[in-house]
Amino acid sequence: MTATVTVTGAAGQIGYALLFRIASGAMLGEVPVRLRLLEVPQAVGAAEGTAMELADAAFPLLESVDVFDDADAAFEGAQLALLVGARPRTAGMERADLLTANAGIFGPQGRAINDHASDDVRVLVVGNPANTNALIAAAHAPDVPAERFTAMTRLDHNRGLAQLATRLDVGVDRLSRMTIWGNHSSTQVPDPSQLLLDGEPIALDDAWVAEEFVPTVVNRGAAIIAARGASSAASAASAAIDHMRDWVEDTAPGDWVSAALPSRGEYGVPEGLVCSFPVTGADGAWRVVEGLELPPAVRAGLAATVVELEAERDAVRALGLL
Ligand code: NDP
Repeated sequence: MTATVTVTGAAGQIGYALLFRIASGAMLGEVPVRLRLLEVPQAVGAAEGTAMELADAAFPLLESVDVFDDADAAFEGAQLALLVGARPRTAGMERADLLTANAGIFGPQGRAINDHASDDVRVLVVGNPANTNALIAAAHAPDVPAERFTAMTRLDHNRGLAQLATRLDVGVDRLSRMTIWGNHSSTQVPDPSQLLLDGEPIALDDAWVAEEFVPTVVNRGAAIIAARGASSAASAASAAIDHMRDWVEDTAPGDWVSAALPSRGEYGVPEGLVCSFPVTGADGAWRVVEGLELPPAVRAGLAATVVELEAERDAVRALGLL
């Protein structure tokens, strides 16, 4: 069986890092892949260049690469869709302008997914504001179950794991049950309160968590821009691969990961908001891990990040874009 994978923003930084890993089998294992790349017309030439490089890599699993500037064509038959391209905030841009610009991208893409993708399509939104872009896309795809639209918080999750592994001087493979709650923004709530080391609970110093761990995870993107002179791309691509792989396959037994998906009211999050939760992947679906006892700081943080998600949803609604 061959998988059809559509990637938007294919000529961007993240796209460049992502496509080669998908083609190599890092996302789907030994499954042949058909890649369909979507770009804005002015970036189609660059995407064609990436397609040439993909051909030159002679990946045994890569069956075809096609480049489009039309969403209907790009999503034709898509089983996995990674929506990376988005309108970045530029100097002087109002929040409403940003939301409107992105609704103009993610609304039509949601409609194109609705009308042209495979019945089993699974969508990951990476382009920011990712949670609200996923909400907009889902709203324009009434025939696709809403839970097939997700947004990426896996990079924040992985950043958290990396910080914890360094602190505890262990490999990340010995850690489990890290969580990112809420919006993929500065209000996100990195939560190591349920962390296990080798399957056993491990107590962390509360002051370290509040004063060092949380700010480091939340501000990691800015720190990378400062160090690298460009935003993180390979780690974002790697997290997107992790998200899709764990969705299609299953998460490791006893562990969970973080992903933003439409709330069904879990943990008091209003229904329909695309919010990051601890989730397990099983049988091709995400399930929110319910019933966790949350420390007061996490509960307060979750309430605040939900306020931000509601404000984004309300702003989009007020603009008539939902
Ligand atoms: P990147 O490939 O670096 O980033 C793409 C998107 O991912 C941005 O919205 C970015 O948000 C977001 N993102 C999420 N997590 C991260 C992270 N950890 N680090 C960095 N970015 C993250 O952007 P480029 O400008 O290099 O490329 C974007 C491409 O998308 C361009 O080629 C453009 O033409 C294309 N595009 C395609 C569209 C389409 O296919 N219809 C529509 C719009 C754009 P943030 O801006 O906050 O960094």
